Amino acid sequence: MFDQFNRRINYLRISVTDRCNLRCTYCMPEEGIEAIPHSQILTFEEIVEFTKIAVAKGFDKFRITGGEPLVRKGIVNLVGMLSQVKGIADLGMTTNGTLLASFAKDLYDAGLKRINVSLDTLDPEKYQKITRIGNLNDVLDGLMEAKRVGFNPIKLNCVVEKNSSEPDAQGVREFARQHGFIPRFIPKMSLEEGTFSVVEGGDGGHCSTCNRIRLTSNGVLKPCLFSDNGYNIRTLGFEKAIEMAIKNKPAHGTINHTGKFYNLGG
Ligand code: SAM
Ligand code: SF4
Repeated sequence: MFDQFNRRINYLRISVTDRCNLRCTYCMPEEGIEAIPHSQILTFEEIVEFTKIAVAKGFDKFRITGGEPLVRKGIVNLVGMLSQVKGIADLGMTTNGTLLASFAKDLYDAGLKRINVSLDTLDPEKYQKITRIGNLNDVLDGLMEAKRVGFNPIKLNCVVEKNSSEPDAQGVREFARQHGFIPRFIPKMSLEEGTFSVVEGGDGGHCSTCNRIRLTSNGVLKPCLFSDNGYNIRTLGFEKAIEMAIKNKPAHGTINHTGKFYNLGG
């Protein structure tokens, strides 16, 4: 489907949980997060049904995200169910990679072939500081296992203060080069302040060509990361929610007072 600014909207990012096993400083507060009650989280059946309707509406690119998608119970089954949906040209996942060493093979066998892993630094202490609780070695093990089982491409999402000339980013670039991973550098954004810019090596941040909408883990369809607009797929119905989200996708982002990265999937 095309929106009112003639953008073809064909990319859906699905957040399968708002929970996470890390607490990255730019994404989550250290404590005091109110998790969405399990009873409100979309079931696998709802996610798959919604995906089928999205495919019928012209979507062919899907990404599973979170929170941390690998903490959602049964995630391999969901990947298996989604990879059976006819009409999906591109199914990917964005993960912090900390649990990837144990999940990579099952995810691959279930039909996932593309993965983005978040990695901001190769300095273990800095990694722990950024994520508050993470262990860099878990991510590196996850990456090596993902490579071993055949994931391709493996992209690295590296959050930077301003750009990739920063030393941590340079380290990630070199690491990526050595292992055949593809780095993308994402300037740190603020939803509340409305600060966002283009992703180096990716296609996010270009409002005039933005082709994506987002589904939160409790079933709200968000036409833009930097907007409070949202359409509840359960109350409106799946098809109507898609139509409304596309019809009301703003020309460009402004500010999001209500959402958080870990709800919206980044
Ligand atoms: N937990 C998974 C992960 O970290 O990859 C998936 C969800 S996370 C919200 C998706 C992406 O958003 C990650 O690559 C993360 O680095 C990015 N992100 C989170 N907060 C951000 C911020 N304030 N500015 C820019 N990117 C951010
Ligand atoms: Fe968790 Fe990802 Fe947010 Fe970090 S960026 S706290 S890993 S959801």
